[in-house]
Amino acid sequence: MKTFKIVTYGCQINEYESEKFREFLISAGLKEVKEERDADLVLLNSCAVREKSELKLISRIGYIRKLFNKYGKPLSVVTGCVATVKEREIRRVGQKSVGLVMKGTRSLKERINELKEFIGIENVVLKPEVKGVFAYVPIIFGCNNFCTYCIVPFTKGRERSRTKEEILNEIRTLAENGTKEVVLLGQNINHYGRDIGYKDGFIELLEAVDKISGIERIRYLTPHPADFTFQDIERMRELEKLCPHFHLPVQSGNNRILKLMKRGYTREQYVSLVNHIKNLFPEASITTDIIVGFPTETDDEYLDTKRLVEEVKFDKIFLAKFSPRPGTVAAKMEGQIPEEIKKLRQNELLSIENTISLKKNRSYIGKYTEVLVETVKEGEMLGRNPQDKLVIIKGEGKHVGEFVRVKITDADMMHLRGVYE
Ligand code: SAH
Ligand code: SF4
Repeated sequence: MKTFKIVTYGCQINEYESEKFREFLISAGLKEVKEERDADLVLLNSCAVREKSELKLISRIGYIRKLFNKYGKPLSVVTGCVATVKEREIRRVGQKSVGLVMKGTRSLKERINELKEFIGIENVVLKPEVKGVFAYVPIIFGCNNFCTYCIVPFTKGRERSRTKEEILNEIRTLAENGTKEVVLLGQNINHYGRDIGYKDGFIELLEAVDKISGIERIRYLTPHPADFTFQDIERMRELEKLCPHFHLPVQSGNNRILKLMKRGYTREQYVSLVNHIKNLFPEASITTDIIVGFPTETDDEYLDTKRLVEEVKFDKIFLAKFSPRPGTVAAKMEGQIPEEIKKLRQNELLSIENTISLKKNRSYIGKYTEVLVETVKEGEMLGRNPQDKLVIIKGEGKHVGEFVRVKITDADMMHLRGVYE
């Protein structure tokens, strides 16, 4: 095998893993190509959170099978969440073009070893690539929460924390190679360390990362509103490098639905957490995930979510229509909501959110913000500010990895625009 292509679906953990697979394949002497038809090997890292991404994967496998039948290549390797739960279907659709299926519950190390055997190269010396200005670092894999709609605990298995030493070493190496910003990852990041006997594991890890020289910004995903303590938030205020951005998935604004989802908090507790954050970090941006059309959700209950959106004024919402996932409790519930109603609720929330995002972004006009430059194109540069807003900067002259002070002159729903000093 000489060439490969990687296709990644889903979350940041998958992006991180794909990066590690890429590093391995390049170290093994394979060359990365853009198109499936030029590749000997296609690695598909799948997502099962919603049916839509699963369908996309299956149709891609079908496409690869057609290429394989015609040209005798590429072979595919499928991993990630769909590979954990749907190996048979993957093999049925891909037939001989599927060379290997690796369950997403297996460790990255095990999967890289399996991949090594599969491509038949024995001695691979990993040559870590120089990383970008920001990097993902998983700190805990899997999830123990079992929210009733969610397939993740089935596809990723139980919680497994990495040790503090391993994480800090990885971040030090990243810093030595020029990484300025790290994004710590976990499905419920507040549980970090519990399974390996750490107390206050998450906040203590943040405090240790804060001291690593070279790292200038720290972000993390995803905290769980039921496990985020006021005390942790207060300790976060002491951190120098933590970005003022809180992604707090609420899922619903109605207490009966939250209970059915098994989220472990009420609307009132959620609002009080957000207010606490807003008091301590007045400049923070707050984003969320919402599901509309959970089984039995009435119009009035949906309106509670709508009112919550209007009350909290999120900077951004990742909005999904409920998608029944095999094996989950909610998929079997009576009272599934018709697609048209889910669509109506989704559209209405989107339009409310668009208005709020626009207003929030426009409130930056005339102010200064600090941007870490991620890409430089002709005539413009692109990066993010501490609140995780994408900023388009007019002009060139700065380098990737530099911080610039930018005066915001315009904004739309998705970006801020400005000029640098
Ligand atoms: N661990 C994180 C994210 C998990 S999956 C958390 O607890 O929030 C990312 C998002 O996908 C979830 O927040 C949820 O909004 C959405 N999601 C998960 N399962 C879903 C389903 N069955 N239907 C629709 N959206 C879903
Ligand atoms: Fe899924 Fe809930 Fe775990 Fe998030 S916390 S991954 S939504 S089960």
